Amino acid sequence: MSRYCGRFAPSPTGPLHMGSLVAAMASYLDAKAHFGRWLLRIEDLDFDRNVAGADLHIIASLKRCGMRWDDEVVWQSQRTSNYQIALEKLGDHVFPCACSRKEIADSRLRAGLSDHQIYPGTCRNGIAQDKAARAYRLRVPSGDAAIFEFQDRILGRQSQDLSREVGDFVLKRADGFWAYQLAVVVDDAAQGVTHIVRGADLLDSSARQIYLQQLLGLTTPTYMHVPVVLNAEGEKLSKQTGALAFDRGDNDVLQEALLPAAAFLELPLNTRPDNIDDFWLAATTAWAAKFNL
Ligand code: GLU
Repeated sequence: MSRYCGRFAPSPTGPLHMGSLVAAMASYLDAKAHFGRWLLRIEDLDFDRNVAGADLHIIASLKRCGMRWDDEVVWQSQRTSNYQIALEKLGDHVFPCACSRKEIADSRLRAGLSDHQIYPGTCRNGIAQDKAARAYRLRVPSGDAAIFEFQDRILGRQSQDLSREVGDFVLKRADGFWAYQLAVVVDDAAQGVTHIVRGADLLDSSARQIYLQQLLGLTTPTYMHVPVVLNAEGEKLSKQTGALAFDRGDNDVLQEALLPAAAFLELPLNTRPDNIDDFWLAATTAWAAKFNL
């Protein structure tokens, strides 16, 4: 197997918060415990959700946390020609789609299905003459071929039926933006990522990504999905609600961010670190022990 390579891939929709720090920490510790490489990639393809300056804010916060990445930081917005190449490589697996969200919801309701956004297949065999392509979708297989299984290092065996649970999914959006699913697969492969460690909110995306990897002839990395930090209402933290005050400059990153994140990940530290470097040493040892590395 090629040398361990992990990554943290935040979307710059706001400052680093406790939830994103937990994902960053988990992927960082796993890489360190494997003596591997760890990369930082800014997933800034959704121009509607990007917040100006959030990328640099996240980078500065990770540095304040004492995290060091290998290689240069990669911005997905600089890599769009690679997504176009991958789309073309997918050939007939991809089809143009003229449906609006409302049309998809309406046609599901007409068929007696819930309006949950599983694509009903309207443009699979071509778009109506009076319509123009809005988005590009990937045809998912049917029957048993639609079932994708993988082993998650924490959650165990996972299975998803892409046909019943997801449907033909978007690779290039109607607004012209590249979809996360395609970009993440292209970039993880291009960067040689072997191990993906991220929040369990992305568990549901893994089968789609594995299918894309197979179609593009790419190696499937191993997956580990860590628990997601929830607020008091049981909702996933948003960058607005869970922000860590990294930008004050005088706050104690160890006490206010790193130790709480390690506690959330249930890492029993043997020593009570009194500086950031000692924290990472103790946390890496605890991670290796927890996952028998
Ligand atoms: N950019 C995604 C996010 O911030 C994470 C992508 C991934 O780890 O696969 O939610």
